[in-house]
Amino acid sequence: MKQYKDRCFRDFDWIKFKIMEENAKQVEKWGIQERTAFEWLAYTMEELGELAEAISEHEYRKGSKEKVVAEAIQLATLALKIAEMYEKYG
Ligand SMILES: [Mg+2]
Repeated sequence: MKQYKDRCFRDFDWIKFKIMEENAKQVEKWGIQERTAFEWLAYTMEELGELAEAISEHEYRKGSKEKVVAEAIQLATLALKIAEMYEKYG
């Protein structure tokens, strides 16, 4: 099975762009949300499950790498929202 080497955020501008793009999508779809920590965690875990499914589909079937990237960005966006909220309000 293919191995993936850590790139240590070498293209951070791309990552930042994708995170901000995903944030805009989430806000457009759901508005600015105010939820409990466990609700935020539940949404994040849902995205983790979707990432697991996308990786499995990519590795074992004909799932696309684009789907893996999209799910990873969705997961990261929510995780970073939690980090920001705890840093600023926690
Ligand atoms: Mg998702």
